[in-house]
Amino acid sequence: MTWEERWHPLREEWVIVAAHRQGRPWSGETVAASKERIPSHEPTCYLCPRNKRISGVVNPDFSGVFVFDNDHPCVAEDAPEVASDSSLYLSRPATGIARVICFSPRHNTTLAELPDSDVDNVLAEFQDQYRDLGERPDIAHVLMFENKGEAVGVSNPHPHGQIYATNFVFKTIETEARVSRTYWEEHRRALFADILTEELSDGRRIVYENDSAVVFLPYFVRYAYEAYVAPKATHRSIADLSDKERRDLATALKHVLVKFDNLWQMPFPYVMPFHQAPTDGTDNGAFHFHIEFHPPFRKPNLLKYLAGPEIGGGNFLSDTAPEEKAEELRALPDTHYKETDRMGHGGHG
Ligand SMILES: [Zn+2]
Ligand SMILES: [Zn+2]
Repeated sequence: MTWEERWHPLREEWVIVAAHRQGRPWSGETVAASKERIPSHEPTCYLCPRNKRISGVVNPDFSGVFVFDNDHPCVAEDAPEVASDSSLYLSRPATGIARVICFSPRHNTTLAELPDSDVDNVLAEFQDQYRDLGERPDIAHVLMFENKGEAVGVSNPHPHGQIYATNFVFKTIETEARVSRTYWEEHRRALFADILTEELSDGRRIVYENDSAVVFLPYFVRYAYEAYVAPKATHRSIADLSDKERRDLATALKHVLVKFDNLWQMPFPYVMPFHQAPTDGTDNGAFHFHIEFHPPFRKPNLLKYLAGPEIGGGNFLSDTAPEEKAEELRALPDTHYKETDRMGHGGHG
């Protein structure tokens, strides 16, 4: 059983790994998966094709990926002017662009259930979005992510992601960009590329690998199933990937999504950010684009609560060792359980 502190080089902080506490008694709340049947088109859903949104705009009858400006943006080009006369309590307009990206017209599917080619189409749209928004002079960073599941506050099951193009660089990215730059100055190598080298030579935390992409649970993970999906080559953003690299990444992403759902035979909840270089003009040649998963569950329907160490102190206490969790994921079937159900139990291995 692992009981130690591990250094998180991308965040510059210690993670306490206390996997020996995993079996401690629990009498708290568990979160049950919804068993209700979901239709493929839901008349009240603002993301389904042909439906009217709150803004009055009617969605087109789209067949693939569909992107629109968020009707309830947290940042916008017409954010109100603000004034502050304090030198300490600063404020400024929440300028930026917030968009929603529908992964599919089907209300009752998920990224994990889409064919690889559709996942690749989603990634291609993210490439276009990064190029379009990142080029704009007033945009310092393009944050792309998917929040999935009621456990992370998403009540609408329609598969979708979000894009926040902001006038500042989000804190985690700012740290990753800074440590990547410093590491490059000291070693003339990309920090994340060195992490990949470590992981690939060790092998225990690798979940999946193909020609140009890899899925792994880093040595320093904070969450039980915190998988990283990354191209092997160092690229600043998804936009810099070749078509072949993007397809390999889609295959890798789909692979781990299927594993996640197969874990407990339920749609696996997560926060999935794309970590990409800032577009604020700083030197980010050593920034290595990757996708991270931050899943809130540590056991079936059992939330990892952020409490004293995490919220109170700012460092994570992890109850699991990534070596065990990677092994657990590797052992799961490669076919989505719903697909296996459709083909009939038993017939297919
Ligand atoms: Zn819908
Ligand atoms: Zn990252």
